[in-house]
Amino acid sequence: MGHETEADYRFCPRCAWPLESRLLKAGEPRRLFCTACEFVFYLDPKVAACTICRTEAGIVLLKRAIDPQKGLWVFPGGFVDRGEAVADAAIRETLEEVGLRVSLTGILDAYSTPGSAVVVVVYAADVVGGTLEARDESLEVRAFSPEDLPWDELAFESTRLALRDYVTRFYPRARKVRAE
Ligand SMILES: [Zn+2]
Repeated sequence: MGHETEADYRFCPRCAWPLESRLLKAGEPRRLFCTACEFVFYLDPKVAACTICRTEAGIVLLKRAIDPQKGLWVFPGGFVDRGEAVADAAIRETLEEVGLRVSLTGILDAYSTPGSAVVVVVYAADVVGGTLEARDESLEVRAFSPEDLPWDELAFESTRLALRDYVTRFYPRARKVRAE
């Protein structure tokens, strides 16, 4: 998921002067700084909003149709637009990608790792309408029983961690779940 670094930006987006890497405050990372207009170019995290929901057949996953991690499985979700509520983004992305209308029942967790620009917020959700089908950015959609989840073909580390948490919480008696 588009991890831009300082090296990707060379000019001030406000005045087009070359940016410099500066230590502006002790203890903080270096920042891209414009010496002409004093603009500070903060490389902020990106927030992705996702849902894990289940039909009678099991947990809904989609096979990604685009890179990164094309061909691997993930639950529906995508980046939150600026100004959009995170919960609304999770609902919107789920409909766009797998055709299901969902109602969020609670937050599973927020998943992030040092060095990654992406914070993945994952909600548990109930299906309230729609039809399960592969839509935007999906090659295939499927519902998996907790015993059959494709642990070796998951797209991201956050996918593995969130599914592990979901199965632990919602299928406490599931056997043969590879938790680690
Ligand atoms: Zn500038």
